[in-house]
Amino acid sequence: MSSSLIFRKGLDLKHAVAGMLAESYHSGLVEQIKADDFTYRAGRLTVHLAREFGFCYGVDRAVDYAYQTRRRFPDRAVYLTGEIIHNPHVNDRLRAMDVRFLSDSPGAIDHLGSDDVVILPAFGVTMSMLQRLERRGCTLIDTTCGSVLNVWKNVRRYAEGGYTSVIHGKVWHEETQATASQAVEYGGRYLVLFDGAEAQVVCDYIRGGGDAAAVLARFPSAVSAGFDPERDLQRIGLANQTTMLMSESLEIEKMLKAAMIDRYGEADLVQHFQAFDTICSATQDRQDAVVALLRERPIDSMIVIGGYNSSNTCNLARICAVSRPTFHIADPDCLVSPGEIRHRPVGTKTEVTSSAWLPSGGPVSIGLTSGASTPDNLVGDVVLKLAQFAASAP
Ligand code: SF4
Repeated sequence: MSSSLIFRKGLDLKHAVAGMLAESYHSGLVEQIKADDFTYRAGRLTVHLAREFGFCYGVDRAVDYAYQTRRRFPDRAVYLTGEIIHNPHVNDRLRAMDVRFLSDSPGAIDHLGSDDVVILPAFGVTMSMLQRLERRGCTLIDTTCGSVLNVWKNVRRYAEGGYTSVIHGKVWHEETQATASQAVEYGGRYLVLFDGAEAQVVCDYIRGGGDAAAVLARFPSAVSAGFDPERDLQRIGLANQTTMLMSESLEIEKMLKAAMIDRYGEADLVQHFQAFDTICSATQDRQDAVVALLRERPIDSMIVIGGYNSSNTCNLARICAVSRPTFHIADPDCLVSPGEIRHRPVGTKTEVTSSAWLPSGGPVSIGLTSGASTPDNLVGDVVLKLAQFAASAP
């Protein structure tokens, strides 16, 4: 078996790629808006920008390392296991730099060798993927975010202490799959919960026992192999995918804790229930900022920019949609005309086209935010389009 060389702290080329990164993702207009109290005015249009938005520290670092990798290994094949982050614009730019995606060709991994370089994304990879790559002897550039590593640390501790990891996350998301694999690697078990309704199923079983098969049927691909609800829900430790909605994660924690107290009593709780908040601070800051924006500014409607498969972006849109007409758009091209917008409504999986999205006749006030994987240049382009459309449809 070959052994891999792993770079975890970049490739000492930060300065060499800084100009290229700025050229690709920076926006002078966004900097100007920040300096103007996060406000942009043009004619009848006012845009209010959230005070925290866009690239988080983990994404910033992952994209930086990807550019450094390309620079450091100009003559070697460079791969990503899949999307480096959930933003089509960024992934397309990497493809244009001849960074190839292993997810495009199943089986390609079995043909990799020691000359090949593979970048691991910000949300990490499963243990089985890591071991496969190590067996191929590839050079690995690990961009896994520190906040994700923190979740893994907690999950390993649960496994070693005999607690089942109950993960509030999306079972189809790479980060949650990677986190679950950590539990198994360290001899533990896991169950992934998507929302409060699924948490209620688990709470009901904890309190009253009952039909274990029915519980398993509710989580067909969201539990570790051989999961036994009777045995594996006696001691649980809670973790989150880092980009979930904080309020929902806290609610699920409360529900599970109450169920454990009902079943085992308060005195013994620590033997049966552990919890650590593993929502990352960048996600939290963006959610708090959009709540403040909606509270403090006179917003008619919200635009949220980010990949449709970006968990943190979808959650920002969920927060906004509670009180304002909200348009989650993937990129500036979704603003088709003053009378037409392509967007994905909250809670759905399909992009739709809506009309009459930009009020005409008089002042209009639009709130704007973007997910942690959205570069500033896209935010700047959206502002310019809004200004153009507001002017052309007075
Ligand atoms: S959203 Fe949070 S966990 Fe994910 S890459 Fe950004 S900082 Fe890291």
